[in-house]
Amino acid sequence: MITDNMGAKDLPIGGNILEDGNSELFNTGEWRNKKPVHLDDKCKHCMLCVMPCPDNAIIHDEYDKMLGFDYNKCKGCGVCAKVCPFKAIEMKDE
Ligand code: SF4
Ligand code: SF4
Repeated sequence: MITDNMGAKDLPIGGNILEDGNSELFNTGEWRNKKPVHLDDKCKHCMLCVMPCPDNAIIHDEYDKMLGFDYNKCKGCGVCAKVCPFKAIEMKDE
């Protein structure tokens, strides 16, 4: 059963995800060895990075202004940096 504040060590053997829609319950930031950095001067706030993030870790306000990342959730996969058309996200070593 999935509960609040589960970490990577609490995942089932093999990493099987047994229930959908549960990424917010895992602190997947523990997995990260690279972190995304938001370059605000390049960002056009197009929100293209938000939907592909598998951990719902991109923070934005109600007016769709990109504000940064929830590093408790961000696992450092780099998808957001790949999809950003304006190179406004850089992946840096932790
Ligand atoms: S995709 Fe790039 S430009 Fe668009 S909101 Fe995200 S960081 Fe900003
Ligand atoms: S690197 Fe980007 S896409 Fe991947 S989990 Fe972190 S914020 Fe989401």
